[in-house]
Amino acid sequence: MPFHSLAQELQHLDDAHLRRQRRIVDSAQGAKVIVNGQTLLNFCSNDYLGLAADGDLASHLADATHKWGVGSGASHLVCGHQAPHEALERALAAFIGTEAALGFGTGYLANLGVLTALAGREDAIFADKLNHASLNEGALLSRADFKRFPHNDLATLERQLASSMARRKLIAVDGVFSMDGDLAPLPDLLALAARYDAWLYVDDAHGFGVLGESGQGSLQHWGLMQHPERERLIYMATLGKAAGTAGAFVAGPQVLVDYLLNRARSYIYTTAAPAALAAASQLALRKLEEEHWRRQRLQAHIAALRHGLATTRYRLANSTTAIQPIEVASAAAALALSAALQQHGLWVAAIRPPTVPTPRLRITLSAAHTADDVAYLIATLKQLEGMLDS
Ligand code: PMP
Repeated sequence: MPFHSLAQELQHLDDAHLRRQRRIVDSAQGAKVIVNGQTLLNFCSNDYLGLAADGDLASHLADATHKWGVGSGASHLVCGHQAPHEALERALAAFIGTEAALGFGTGYLANLGVLTALAGREDAIFADKLNHASLNEGALLSRADFKRFPHNDLATLERQLASSMARRKLIAVDGVFSMDGDLAPLPDLLALAARYDAWLYVDDAHGFGVLGESGQGSLQHWGLMQHPERERLIYMATLGKAAGTAGAFVAGPQVLVDYLLNRARSYIYTTAAPAALAAASQLALRKLEEEHWRRQRLQAHIAALRHGLATTRYRLANSTTAIQPIEVASAAAALALSAALQQHGLWVAAIRPPTVPTPRLRITLSAAHTADDVAYLIATLKQLEGMLDS
């Protein structure tokens, strides 16, 4: 049995209710999905604006595929960089208000590539403890001095910055924390970055498209689009969430993008995403900016859920975003509640360690939902409230 030790580890995961399984979704994404022949109301995707199965985007993707082909054929620096990739980068830079932007295959790759390109042995990366795994991986891989501070604890961060002798100091945070839904205090972080001559790297995977009047994410939410220290802020966001497609980008000054183009290994040594996908992302960007009703509808759902559960014993997190986690006592309880919700036709993910320090149900809301969908979720949760004691 050459893989006996792996089987043993999997058994341990099973015993601790921590083994992960996939479920096959037999439909497009959307408010309703089909799983094992059952139609479920989907409260666990990051398709916050309901664009993942948008008809306009699907048609545009199909048309662009006929024009630009299915595959890009090579990495960007060899011959895979096609006109739609370039056009998307320009559109993203203009939207975020930077000189330039660089597209990556995924957000995971962007974080790995940027952190390893910008920081090395003589440098230090200061990271919030609740940052996304890909930021941690990037920091570890960079071999920089990796300092983590307790969640949103700026006093500790300041002490770490003050005592650091590193050549470059890079503060890295999620703009919206992916498992808690709360925000990093970007104005305060930018002020600290300025005081200690550091750079601020913001992973806005869950803020881009969702926050701000026109979807310019955490930057717009915090009024940082025109800030005097804006240049030291490096903005990154993914396109697989609110934008409904796939991929990611980093936006900043031209010199930063030129540098990353030469040094970010996860950009250089990988095949470019299909150009048609870039074309679809560009249309998604336009829809995300112009279709304000999507954000308004999402906001109404968030308010309804929080109001609906306010007088129950469910402990909602301090979140005003589409991510609305409910704390539960144990991994087993999280799984049991998730299973009971599924019996009522609701899909809500149970998120357990090591993804998060404490088990929870992670409810995500979307403009794809109707008010009735959200009302049904609230009513069902109320019906299952007793399970919190089990
Ligand atoms: N950053 C954050 C905060 C995320 O939540 C995620 C995805 N879950 C990523 C990065 C990775 O992005 P992608 O899915 O495009 O790889």
